[in-house]
Amino acid sequence: MFINYLDASHFKRYFFKYLQATILQMTNKTKVVIVGGGPTGATLTLLLLRQGIEVKLIEASRDFRRLFRGEGLMPSGLDALEQMDLLKFLPHLPHQSIDAWDFLLAGKSLFRVNEPIETNGQSCTTVSQPHLLDVIMQQAHNYPQFEFIRGDAVKDILRESNRVTGVILASEQEITADLVIAADGRNSLMRKKAGVNLNQLHNSIDILWFKLDSGVLGDQKNIFYSIIKGRDAFGLFRGSQGEFHIGWGLHPDDTYDWKEIDWSRKLIETSPSWFAKHIETHRESLTKPMMLSVVVGLCDRWSIPGLLLLGDAAHPMSPIRAQGINMAFRDAIVAANHLTPLLTQSNVHCQQLDRLLPLIQQEREPEIVRIQKLQSQEMAQAELLHKSAFVRWGAKTFTSIIRPSIRFSWLRRQKQLRQGVTEVRLTTNN
Ligand SMILES: Cc1cc2nc3c(=O)[nH]c(=O)nc-3n(C[C@H](O)[C@H](O)[C@H](O)COP(=O)(O)OP(=O)(O)OC[C@H]3O[C@@H](n4cnc5c(N)ncnc54)[C@H](O)[C@@H]3O)c2cc1C
Repeated sequence: MFINYLDASHFKRYFFKYLQATILQMTNKTKVVIVGGGPTGATLTLLLLRQGIEVKLIEASRDFRRLFRGEGLMPSGLDALEQMDLLKFLPHLPHQSIDAWDFLLAGKSLFRVNEPIETNGQSCTTVSQPHLLDVIMQQAHNYPQFEFIRGDAVKDILRESNRVTGVILASEQEITADLVIAADGRNSLMRKKAGVNLNQLHNSIDILWFKLDSGVLGDQKNIFYSIIKGRDAFGLFRGSQGEFHIGWGLHPDDTYDWKEIDWSRKLIETSPSWFAKHIETHRESLTKPMMLSVVVGLCDRWSIPGLLLLGDAAHPMSPIRAQGINMAFRDAIVAANHLTPLLTQSNVHCQQLDRLLPLIQQEREPEIVRIQKLQSQEMAQAELLHKSAFVRWGAKTFTSIIRPSIRFSWLRRQKQLRQGVTEVRLTTNN
């Protein structure tokens, strides 16, 4: 009798647990949860949805416009958009192509290269990222198996027997999934919660970002200037909406406190005369500096059971030569290629899925390592000019002699920075 009672209560407990799990599966468990709706998360969401896979996308911000978002796309990024059938939206989005790159040292051009660099190639183009993300989300909403949770950040991950099984949102909502994908950017909380190590590279820098009306200069060619004067340097180009963007590099050995500086004066002092005059005229439109702390690095591993890290969450990219968005799109394509065959099965075998995840890192890592190395080399040259008055003097005095060789070595680096390093082809059908 006692044994029978135990059996019955055991059965009841087991039955209710089973029922609870089944209900959870029916009501809550999803195939894929993607954390972060930036370039990585948004494009991967769309690629999986097109294959009929159920996706929940969680984005902390309510509006894509509220965060700083890079804009420059290289030919490799434009090609990725084409492969994802998204390039057709470009003419309807705010965008500007870059016409040339020019390096000015103390007001004199070290060298200039016109776009497109490749014969019959595409020009580097700035595209409004919030507009692009909005268009991708509009596409995603065409799929009934899509859910977009926005304005609610993930605050923790759920685990069961050492496998990541879902996420907990700030609103306390719990979402379980066969696979969680962390696309939550360079300061990834998911990475920290998962205990994945990020090897930070030395070329992590801070940048101050400004915008300025372009006025009559808006009708001229859009040249990306790297402007160097003494130890100071900044990048200048017209962004997707036609206004000037200014990115000022901060260095640990700077002798000033950036918060105390009269920035319109500092920019005028550093600029060639034509741009100094422009700042004088449009001084009122110069925005306050936005401090962007740039982390650069690479994770030892991009996955643990149940969780895949992608984009800046796995390999935060430096802003140098506009690489991060392009790499994000290419990560999404490779991940979709690998994940689609398994995720389109009605019953996903979690162990099979976990065995697949390292293959995505294996395919993407060589390109990321190479691109980060090329970015470091660009950075090292800028650092040399920043640190050594002698090098600056030499470059200024002997410009005409050294011009061909520095132009050649710059161009040699650009090939992979523009085209990518490995072959990335979307194999799933749209
Ligand atoms: C100053 C600067 C300029 C840059 N300029 C360029 C450029 O011109 N071209 C280029 O290619 N790259 C550029 N980059 C790099 C590029 O911005 C990144 O590499 C790229 O955005 C990475 O995309 P992502 O989707 O992986 O991450 P992100 O773009 O960072 O997107 C992550 C998303 O996750 C969301 N999120 C974060 N935490 C959570 C959470 N806990 N829960 C839910 N959501 C969360 C964020 O709101 C965000 O929308 C620049 C970087 C910097 C710092």
